[in-house]
Amino acid sequence: MQPILKVDLTSGKITEFSIPKTWTNDFLGGASLAARLLYDSMEPSLAPLSPQAPLVFMTGPLTGTSGPTVGRFVVCGRSPATGLWGESNCGGFWGPELRMAGYDGIWLEGRAAEPLYLWVQDGKAEIRSAKSLWGLDTYQTQEAIQEELGAGKVRVASIGTAGETQIPFALILCDHGRVAGRTGMGAVMGAKNLKAIAVQGHGKVPVLDPSGFSPLRSEANRLLRGDALTQVLRELGTSGAGDYFNYLGEMPKRYFHQGHVEEELHITGAGLKDTILSGVSACHACVVACGRVVRLEDGEKRKGPEYETLVGFGPNLLLNDPVFVTQMGEICDRYGMDTISMSNTIGLAFQLFEMGLITAADTGGLNLKWGDPGSVEALIHQTARREGFGAALGEGARALGRRFGAEEEAVQVNGLEVAYHDPRGASGMALVYATSPRGACHNQSDYFLVDVGQVETSLGMSSYDPHAGAEKAANVAIHQNWRTLFNSLVLCVFGNVAPDTLLGLINSACGLDWSIEDMLRAGERGWNLKRAINNRLGLTRWNDRLPKPLLQPYIDDPMGEEMPPPDLNSMLEAYYSARGWDPVSGRPTPEKLRKLNLEFAIRQS
Ligand code: SF4
Repeated sequence: MQPILKVDLTSGKITEFSIPKTWTNDFLGGASLAARLLYDSMEPSLAPLSPQAPLVFMTGPLTGTSGPTVGRFVVCGRSPATGLWGESNCGGFWGPELRMAGYDGIWLEGRAAEPLYLWVQDGKAEIRSAKSLWGLDTYQTQEAIQEELGAGKVRVASIGTAGETQIPFALILCDHGRVAGRTGMGAVMGAKNLKAIAVQGHGKVPVLDPSGFSPLRSEANRLLRGDALTQVLRELGTSGAGDYFNYLGEMPKRYFHQGHVEEELHITGAGLKDTILSGVSACHACVVACGRVVRLEDGEKRKGPEYETLVGFGPNLLLNDPVFVTQMGEICDRYGMDTISMSNTIGLAFQLFEMGLITAADTGGLNLKWGDPGSVEALIHQTARREGFGAALGEGARALGRRFGAEEEAVQVNGLEVAYHDPRGASGMALVYATSPRGACHNQSDYFLVDVGQVETSLGMSSYDPHAGAEKAANVAIHQNWRTLFNSLVLCVFGNVAPDTLLGLINSACGLDWSIEDMLRAGERGWNLKRAINNRLGLTRWNDRLPKPLLQPYIDDPMGEEMPPPDLNSMLEAYYSARGWDPVSGRPTPEKLRKLNLEFAIRQS
């Protein structure tokens, strides 16, 4: 493994850190290895935005090779949104470039006295002033740094205004609008006065057995190209299944209070294709190319929205206009704010306005009416700048609900706003949201795809009805382990790579002799370590819950009958049993931790 660059932003000291071989053997890389790296720093007394709080950018052992969907990196630390473990991964080209520059990760601590950025190039790193960049949006920052460095192709990961103002859902953006969106890692960067990290590398990404790896990755990409999910994603993007999700009642509308819309949806993949789509985009070496490129009235090509943004600024707010969604997505990207959290928090504001708990006196005169695009845009600008009512929105949905005496109306788990996959339409998401280490996350396990048929039997998974209850708990745990493995490789979940294919790639890239069971155990190890970290940060069994709106039936189910909400308590009971966790505390038992080589976490977990 290549070294990790370690930077103390307070003193400006830059060193290199070598990861012990036993750690890479147990955790591979990515988010799991970052959790091991940061385990000792995840102290309750160390606030997420404090100067000493660590922030780690990490790649995986396949990142930057020419394997399938290997262009991603992950950013990890303590989340200002949840106060718990934070991780957010991002596509594009930045992660591969870092590895080509000779580093597998960057470990940041401290706080700079003035805004700065880090410049990493071919085994060297230096700190440069970012005073002139402070206040620029994310795209402007990329351009300004590229111009200043004048070094040809430079990849830049940066924050915008929202990161500077430390909004707890501030993101980090790189390349053509690829983002590390969730859990507020952009705010942690902002709190360190770190505007950006620019990287450039000309080296070769190391794999331990190149002659074994090369044919395997060619075969993996050939298989991936022919996969049905790949074809949908390339043709229609991540919202390709939008109409189907809508039919299942899995796509939220009117802030999770309406199960179905009668009118034709224009914010689906097909809707985009019929209107503004002008091309596709891909991350490093990716044969899927799920990214959308659209052209609006000004004639300029720009990033098209993906599923979460389309639903968040679409049916969630009773809007249905792909042009408007594209514009709101771009404004959020430029400010550096996560579109899921932003649109969810706006949805809550609309809901509380309708309930009479928020009035025009609170909003500075804005009447928050469903389907009003003007209010939505105004609220986004106010939030990023922490102006007017936006100062309240800028604390996220949980805090907004609390402020107006209605925290239970906020559709969030542990401070992270729920993504746009409703557990009443795909019940596995109930457990996924309730137990994810980073709050209501749909990427720690995209179980909604399992609920519609993407069942991997070679992992020991079975098929269950999309509305099944406790009987699917063990299945959910397996899928979470599988996706935790993906997150330690920092692979994209949209790449439907078969387990035996991935096994060959891991073994040849890392010099291992693993089985599929070993891969799943590595995933389980990462999941349990993050749980132990969260336990240490104060998470208890009580935190494994869903917000009230998701535990109520829809009144307008598309199937013509009331759709019962998931029975979360019985699902959790079965889940703890499947995980080997204490059913009362919800903590991994010492025996479980020992079995996973996590003895070091026993005392404090
Ligand atoms: S599937 Fe999409 S998000 Fe994933 S690596 Fe490929 S282009 Fe990037």
